[in-house]
Amino acid sequence: MSGAGMAAMAGLWLAITIVVGKGWCSYACFFGGIEEGMASVADKPQIRKIDARWRYGPWAVLLAMVLLSLALFEPAYCMWLCPFKAVSEYVAARNTVGLVQNGIFVLLFAALVIVLPLLTKKRTQCAFFCPFGAFQSLFNKTSVFEVKIDKTRCTPCVLCQKSCPTMSLTEESIAKGETLMSCMKCGACVDACPKDAAVWHIRGTEIAAKPERARLMFLYAAWAVAIMFGGSIIAEGLATILHVVI
Ligand code: SF4
Ligand code: SF4
Repeated sequence: MSGAGMAAMAGLWLAITIVVGKGWCSYACFFGGIEEGMASVADKPQIRKIDARWRYGPWAVLLAMVLLSLALFEPAYCMWLCPFKAVSEYVAARNTVGLVQNGIFVLLFAALVIVLPLLTKKRTQCAFFCPFGAFQSLFNKTSVFEVKIDKTRCTPCVLCQKSCPTMSLTEESIAKGETLMSCMKCGACVDACPKDAAVWHIRGTEIAAKPERARLMFLYAAWAVAIMFGGSIIAEGLATILHVVI
């Protein structure tokens, strides 16, 4: 990619990040959609208790991968740990190293994207492993939009906490009216709250009694991002399917 191309990509990423922050993971990451689908299959989770310390997983992976990439001069996560390589691009398995890499991709995909989301109803790859998600979390505080808890309406029943696919709410954060840094702005807590206390919010404004405008503005921006990134992929996918079927 040329220097101008790189600069354009960086500018685009910055603009998107300022507007949607980690909302990227909910609305633009097509791999996250696979996990979301798996997490939606069961009515109830088979595994309910998850140690809160798993939340630090993505940060640990991010730190390890940065250090390893610097030491090896290669993108260590893409080379060794990305579960989505199992459904996008296999490395050439011409020798033992290639076989091991592909084995790791398939095992991680099966565990983090299929089995654990089915059992926990959480987005386990996003919540406990993905280093890119951790990196996006850093920019959640610069995002224009956020999800907040209106303390004047909250009972607190913690239904929102139970519904969160990334464990981004705790009793303490609810008491403070906040979501954690890892919130990917999916809106599940907003839908789950029986008191309309979990709300979309535009930073720097009062929490509105009817925050529909903030929600619609965020969704408009998020869908624009999703279409910008996914449009050609969706079109190419449909064309391939039609080509195979017809
Ligand atoms: S679901 Fe609503 S009322 Fe219950 S704890 Fe969450 S914000 Fe408060
Ligand atoms: S459920 Fe609420 S707190 Fe959890 S990621 Fe979605 S928007 Fe954020």
